[in-house]
Amino acid sequence: MKWSYSDSNCFFQCRRLYYLSSVLANSISKDPLRKRAYFVKNSMNFDMWAGHIVDKFISKILIPAINDGLEINFDEYAALAVEIGKKQFDFSANKLYESSNKTEGDIEYCVLDIHELNKPYDESEIGKVYEKVRLAILNFPKIKMFNTNVSLYQHLCNNKDWLMPDITNTGFAIDNINVFPQIDLRVSGATFIDWKVSQSQISDYSRQLSIIGLVAYENRKKRNQTGENPRKIDYDHISLFEVNLIKGTIKQHSFNENIANNVYDHIFLNSRDISLIRQKDDKPSYVTMIKYEQTEGHGCSLCKFYELCTHLTNSKHNYDEAAYFKSLTDEFANTLHD
Ligand code: SF4
Repeated sequence: MKWSYSDSNCFFQCRRLYYLSSVLANSISKDPLRKRAYFVKNSMNFDMWAGHIVDKFISKILIPAINDGLEINFDEYAALAVEIGKKQFDFSANKLYESSNKTEGDIEYCVLDIHELNKPYDESEIGKVYEKVRLAILNFPKIKMFNTNVSLYQHLCNNKDWLMPDITNTGFAIDNINVFPQIDLRVSGATFIDWKVSQSQISDYSRQLSIIGLVAYENRKKRNQTGENPRKIDYDHISLFEVNLIKGTIKQHSFNENIANNVYDHIFLNSRDISLIRQKDDKPSYVTMIKYEQTEGHGCSLCKFYELCTHLTNSKHNYDEAAYFKSLTDEFANTLHD
């Protein structure tokens, strides 16, 4: 079973949300419903989009430039990041994600909820996203490495031969549970960075970072077992940093045996709860959908699957794309959970 932090969050939020986003959504399916669910799953509001532009810019342009030892003018790079944001906007506005060969890994790939879900918006909000992106890139060279006077940028330049951005194919498996988190940047050895552009004071990313710590720990353990470059495994050697590019801050997340065991427990218990509902051969259908209980309450009004969930519930899973699209343009969506 594949387990991810975001699937787990969906599962806690609402079982039906988990169904729509993790069982139904499929990028390569020929079934129009499964494809639509995939686009909805990937759709972003403006806050998420700002983070997405910054993530993509750092992994595809800035880190490779540092790796190549290029002289970086951050004013020019900030302008370039905004240009990429504009390309992403056009990509989404023209709904190229429906037909293009580009995938989530491409720098221009973008699905905005204003286009996919027809959300109303004010033009000024787009300008605010570009301003946030610009600020994030301009802040980059000002951030100091944790508890030192060395800038983060200088630290990355000093480790330029080891930088590995956007890792998605490294993880671990325990008891048939596969965990492959997205890792923003591996600096060197067991030092990892996660980029954030959230302005929230209450966001807590400690569990998300700890999962990356587990990947480092499990991989070292595996290499020791296979005799490949054996070294002592020590939780203290794993450094997990959250860099907030809007606040200009860097925070180190603790990682020790206790934290690691708590995260293992969380993964085991959550996977067990999911597997109690989800069968290996689950076929997305009405019968399957109703096994996943829907959540009543205010969560629905904020849910990106609201319209699709309503449509499938009311139509007993007989997806009618024209009717679904119409529901997106109606001022008031149908009443959910009749
Ligand atoms: S709209 Fe409500 S019930 Fe449906 S998936 Fe979202 S949170 Fe769950």
